[in-house]
Amino acid sequence: LEAKEEFRHKTLATDVMRPRPSGPPLSVLSQSGMTVEEVERLILDTTYSGFPVVISHQSQRLVGFVLRRDLVISLENARRHQEGVVSVSAVLFTECDPPASLNAVPAVKLHSILDLSPFTVTDHTPMEIVVDIFRKLGLRQCLVTQNGRLLGIITKKDVLKHMAQMANRDPDSILFN
Ligand code: ADP
Repeated sequence: LEAKEEFRHKTLATDVMRPRPSGPPLSVLSQSGMTVEEVERLILDTTYSGFPVVISHQSQRLVGFVLRRDLVISLENARRHQEGVVSVSAVLFTECDPPASLNAVPAVKLHSILDLSPFTVTDHTPMEIVVDIFRKLGLRQCLVTQNGRLLGIITKKDVLKHMAQMANRDPDSILFN
């Protein structure tokens, strides 16, 4: 009981994660519901280092995490070297192929660049523990979930800014070690 009381006043993962209530939404990829064009558009419209992959935009169930640079390289490769790939080709992060359809254009399969075990914490995890996990595991980012649904992301820089705020210092002056 006492421990719980203590937690109530602490900063939690949900307080630090993006998106913020006032900011842009989380940019996610669906594992099989997007075209090459849609994924390319997302890459052009954002600068994030990576994207969570979900079962569907509706379910927001986490499947994995894909790095922006891997996505860019793989799509460029597919455009250049994979026969029949066009803007409306499907992008698939799934392991199994969908049932073959005779007149469908070839899909771009990206299962191999997907990290299937990205680190996750729940929204109620105290930031003290999140900071510890980042330090000990050397994480670049961590995903935040609630009841198995993806809520947000915390990057190493977010953690650093949070620590700087806590220390009431200039966010750029603090070192992470
Ligand atoms: P960094 O934090 O090192 O600048 P990013 O460029 O990936 O790394 O992230 C910039 C900001 O956007 C961070 O505050 C992060 O929490 C947030 N962010 C990262 N990835 C996404 C995403 N896919 N959708 C929405 N926000 C994101």
